[in-house]
Amino acid sequence: MLSQVVELIESKRRFAITSHIRPDGDSLGSSLGLYWLLRALDKDVEVIMRDAVPHAYSKLPGTDSVRVTPRVDRPYDAVFVIECSDITRPGLEELDEQFVVNIDHHSTTALFGNINWIDSTASAVGEMIYNLCKALGVRVTKEIAECVYTALITDTGSFHYSNTSERTFKVASELVRAGVKPAKVSQSVFANYPWSKIELTHEVLSTVKRDASGRVAWLFQTQEAQERTGASDEDGDGLVNYPMACGEVEACAFFKETAPGSYRVSLRSKGDVNVARIAERFGGGGHRNAAGCTFTGTIEEAVHSVVGQLVEAVEFRAAGGSTGSLAGHEDLLATAERRDARRDARP
Ligand code: 5GP
Ligand code: MN
Repeated sequence: MLSQVVELIESKRRFAITSHIRPDGDSLGSSLGLYWLLRALDKDVEVIMRDAVPHAYSKLPGTDSVRVTPRVDRPYDAVFVIECSDITRPGLEELDEQFVVNIDHHSTTALFGNINWIDSTASAVGEMIYNLCKALGVRVTKEIAECVYTALITDTGSFHYSNTSERTFKVASELVRAGVKPAKVSQSVFANYPWSKIELTHEVLSTVKRDASGRVAWLFQTQEAQERTGASDEDGDGLVNYPMACGEVEACAFFKETAPGSYRVSLRSKGDVNVARIAERFGGGGHRNAAGCTFTGTIEEAVHSVVGQLVEAVEFRAAGGSTGSLAGHEDLLATAERRDARRDARP
């Protein structure tokens, strides 16, 4: 809990901070926010990650000092593990030999740390780092503020998602007071794409399908499309959100082929359709409205299994929580193709 984290920081001095593989806005913003917080207290601290900082976050203060390494190769008094569901998520060897502080806002996280500070009411771990700053009596510097603000806007979808609370706005307002320029941060995170991402988006959107009800959509990215467009690994990030912009769509799955027969799956939903429960069935996790997992098999099998579960969850909810009919989920690809054929036949 928070008081243990405060006591640890006050009594020790050599720290490392890490987060999950393929870090996102909350994991990097929170890690670097904590880095600047510990620096303000004159602590000896470094951020270590298995993967390099993605382009979208390259303007965050402190990214130059992120050390990319496959193992925890130095001794520390403690390692802060940010936003990870379990000890393997950072992808760092020898992490389990360290004194670990688990800081997360996912209710699905395992209590793998020597200290576990979990706050599932926080919109982002960034909000928790802000609270830690206050608890330690550290002034929120411009560096801390920019990092934490990035965590907030990425995890709340620019204050669009249901995790956005009064507290989120209160913290955001304090961060702006501390010197954040919202338009500048949003521009560097959301409007700084390479052209390859636009081309990849074109390819991926050409695969989009819906189920017969129109409430569940899915789309996929092949390795071939990624290579042809010269897209980087991160260019597929966020493509899952496009079909969600349709009023009728309540859940969406994005399948990204990472090796032949292996897919990273991103799931999104609206309202009380819980995609974290579905991701967990496939060994992943996340939040009610944003979750992910890995699927091994063909794209047809992935669609059948994962989208089948989405259809079931959406029908279950639409039926007011009673067991809904599973009609239409037997062969989703065929259903979608029949519907598309009907649509194409129209003038
Ligand atoms: P994304 O679709 O953006 O990759 O992931 C959305 C959210 O789902 C992440 O913020 C994270 O909380 C969760 N998530 C994605 N992939 C995994 C996974 O493999 N395991 C777990 N536990 N959570 C995941
Ligand atoms: Mn988060």
